Amino acid sequence: MQELEILKQSILNKNAHESEFSQAVIEVLDSLAPVLKEHPEYIENGILERIVEPERIIIFRVPWVDDAGKVQVNRGYRVEFNSAIGPYKGGLRFHKSVNLGIVKFLGFEQIFKNALTGLPMGGGKGGSDFDPHGKSDGEVMRFCQSFMSELYRHIGQFTDVPAGDIGVGAREIGYLFGQYKRLKNEYSGVLTGKGLNYGGSLVRKEATGYGLLYYVEAMMKDHGMELENKRAVISGSGNVAIYALKKAKELGIKVVAMSDSNGCILDEEGIDLALIQDIKEIKRGRIKEYLDYRPKAEYFEGSSHIWKIKCDIALPCATQNELDLEDAKSLVAGGLKVLAEGANMPTTPEAIEYLMKNGVLYAPGKAANAGGVATSGLEMSQNSLRLAWTFEEVDERLKKIMYDIYANVAATAERYGFKDNQVIGANIAGFIKVADAMMEEGIV
Ligand code: NDP
Repeated sequence: MQELEILKQSILNKNAHESEFSQAVIEVLDSLAPVLKEHPEYIENGILERIVEPERIIIFRVPWVDDAGKVQVNRGYRVEFNSAIGPYKGGLRFHKSVNLGIVKFLGFEQIFKNALTGLPMGGGKGGSDFDPHGKSDGEVMRFCQSFMSELYRHIGQFTDVPAGDIGVGAREIGYLFGQYKRLKNEYSGVLTGKGLNYGGSLVRKEATGYGLLYYVEAMMKDHGMELENKRAVISGSGNVAIYALKKAKELGIKVVAMSDSNGCILDEEGIDLALIQDIKEIKRGRIKEYLDYRPKAEYFEGSSHIWKIKCDIALPCATQNELDLEDAKSLVAGGLKVLAEGANMPTTPEAIEYLMKNGVLYAPGKAANAGGVATSGLEMSQNSLRLAWTFEEVDERLKKIMYDIYANVAATAERYGFKDNQVIGANIAGFIKVADAMMEEGIV
């Protein structure tokens, strides 16, 4: 389609230094041709040009003092991308690699993911190039307080509701919430992923990992595949990876490998969940330490080694573009049947194409990892109602949402003539909801 080609070229020209953002936008635009043929009004109303442009970008200085008394300065970001269907919603990432292009790609993906949950949430994302590794609790607290001292002006329970992402977990959310409350003199559900003592929701910590496995379960059942006794690898060993491991074990899947940014471990007896939690959640250590307790396990330098390990199911749960064409080839050669993304955009476009051509069931992150933000939406509902639901109640809602997302993605793919292509199904289903809301709200 000519309009799409022109827009793609202008995205590449305008965002030449933002490769992750261009990659995410082009993947979505490439999926939309069938829907644009049926709905020329989206083109006539400039929906495409508007949906790829953030409504607002905030960039700010974050000065803080380290334990040695030295002044440090980081850069903070919040990209408020699209509020057509609800307040901006999306996590904050603290990692040394964070830049505007990465925050924009994550914010763009979030628009469609949030729409797929069926909950009223717009898309946004934020973060900083602050690296929490090796920082003391005091340093992390001072950084978070400084970060919020600017961000508080731009967010609010009806405006923009941030959550966690890489490098932002319960500790960071607590410090951010405390500072927001102090500055605004207001106790509201402005952040999600909060602690249970101050308005957090049960299951939020587990939600992305659990949701990923509920999605995999729905998808595999739909294809007549058993989950039990399948062999899996999970990259990363952070929040998403750990709770994906927990639910995978409950479903009878044997997870044999996990990783961090330095390397990966292989344990043929199955990864020990309690040990991983102790090393990564409690001690904030390195995955290599697993061998101190399980000497029969093996350690390989380099995070990408994990894709060389034979498995039926691969769950990338670390970071963007962590799995490339070579990795896809070795996974397929090892008998891979299912790949579902816990991370955002972990698989490169060439790798996705190869996997799908070779009959692998591929589930894109914007559908498969939507359980985190869906449960954030449930946390917002509980905060508004001044109620706290039980673990079982939230978990049941999460499972239903993930099954519904899969059904919607699969049905949309089939309806547009691309059966089993979940990339097209997810992109079109998410897009239509947001595009229709934008049409109804006028040119804004
Ligand atoms: P965490 O910070 O808890 O964990 C991140 C994990 O990924 C760590 O094991 C980390 O290793 C590893 N990692 C980070 N960067 C790299 C890299 N460049 N190369 C290899 N490994 C790396 O983050 P989360 O688990 O919350 O997030 C993981 C992914 O899931 C991200 O893509 C995030 O956007 C996505 N996601 C998260 C959601 C959530 O609710 N938290 C919701 C939806 C998606 P190390 O310790 O060495 O840094």
